[in-house]
Amino acid sequence: MMINKPKKLKHRFAIIFILFSFTIISLASILTYTYVNSNLNTYAKYNTQKRKDTLLKRISKTYKKEEWDKEKIEDIGVDSIDEGLIIKVKDKEGNNIWSARDNNNIICESVLKKIKQVTNKINPGLNGEYIIEKLNIKNEKKIIGTLEIEYLGPFYYSNSEVIFFKLLKEVLIVVCVVSLIFSIIIAVVISSSISKPILKVIKTINSIAKGNYSDKVSMKNNIDELNQMIESVNKMANNLEEQEKVRKVLTRDISHELRTPITTMQIQIEAIIDGLWEPTEERLKSIHHEMLRLNRLVVSLEKLSQYESNDVILKKEEIGIGKLIKSILVNFEKKLLDKNIILDLSIEDYKLLIDKDKISQVIINIFSNSIKYTPDHGKIIVRFFKKNDFIYISIKDNGIGIDKKDINQIFNRFYRTDKSRATSSGGIGIGLTISRTIVKSHGGNIEVKSEINKGSEFIISLPTR
Ligand code: ADP
Repeated sequence: MMINKPKKLKHRFAIIFILFSFTIISLASILTYTYVNSNLNTYAKYNTQKRKDTLLKRISKTYKKEEWDKEKIEDIGVDSIDEGLIIKVKDKEGNNIWSARDNNNIICESVLKKIKQVTNKINPGLNGEYIIEKLNIKNEKKIIGTLEIEYLGPFYYSNSEVIFFKLLKEVLIVVCVVSLIFSIIIAVVISSSISKPILKVIKTINSIAKGNYSDKVSMKNNIDELNQMIESVNKMANNLEEQEKVRKVLTRDISHELRTPITTMQIQIEAIIDGLWEPTEERLKSIHHEMLRLNRLVVSLEKLSQYESNDVILKKEEIGIGKLIKSILVNFEKKLLDKNIILDLSIEDYKLLIDKDKISQVIINIFSNSIKYTPDHGKIIVRFFKKNDFIYISIKDNGIGIDKKDINQIFNRFYRTDKSRATSSGGIGIGLTISRTIVKSHGGNIEVKSEINKGSEFIISLPTR
């Protein structure tokens, strides 16, 4: 089976437009031509009759004082031959006064022949025949003779009508050709104005496919659909660019985070192997500590990649959020006691459709941060409130707080404030990243208010519907 080679949009559009214009122009020309032609018949008919009437009048005027002015008749007769009327004038007794054919039969024949040719050419349907019409010449209502007019009947086209008709045809042809040229120009302009942005988009997509994510389609178009296409491509390029940046940062951060414990362990083990250090219990414990840190890091990374793969599958069920929080916080009793932190808990129970395990993870992350970053004898307040279609869970501590410069960064992966790095309780800076991803996938958000050395408040919002 033959598969047709796909045609270019530009060419296809131009061909359709030109064909369409050509049809319209031809139709309009044919209609104009037919209309003028039919009116030209009426006009020619009227002129033929008028010429005969004028001729009769002029001939009758040559009769004065019972005499025919033969010279004048001859002048009129010769003029009439040119106009296609071959005349014969007879007096009332039937005697010949003047005859065009007797005067010059050859000219008469050739004029009639030419008129027949031209008339048949202009209007082939007419099929004109030579007619001889006999008219009475009258003077003051008395018949003074007869005028025989021989012409191509029922009517014919004179020279002036032929010239007019020729001119009209030429004008129509010129209009046709000019319109066609214009339509070709318009077709080319319009089709390339449509195909140009599409080609640009294709070029950009190809470039993006090669990894040039910063490439964008910059042109604006006045066709809505094309604009939407350009916007979508740019959005896609932005997303890819963003993801590429994230990927690079992630790789850099991961290697950075892994390097510290590995280097520490390497130095210590090498020192032991080289006999510089005794493998004391304390040193082995230190190496073990670094190994645990490494392990924690790998587990966290696993979790992070799971949550950030954009396909967090939520196993939603109806849960009493107040009860859930209480059951989680019970597990922190020992830690709170160890640091002598007071927990002020006042919550109600609202039913929410949530993934129990994942939301528990969020509460655990934020609450354990509050304990981690609150010094001994501090206080943590947990509150609930409902506004519009959201439940807000506030976890507020009076701990070390977060600097203004850090506040927008703490949800980024591996971000830790200098203060928290200084604390021994080492997280790796992904708890909040995971928490926000989970809450966002539920249609909610996590906001933070904090003041350095005064404390922080994390507010989790979850939709009630
Ligand atoms: P980490 O494991 O380091 O705690 P998180 O992603 O949970 O990682 O938090 C990121 C950073 O945000 C922390 O390292 C800390 O600097 C800051 N932070 C989070 N919670 C608090 C808090 N309650 N008080 C002060 N700083 C906080």
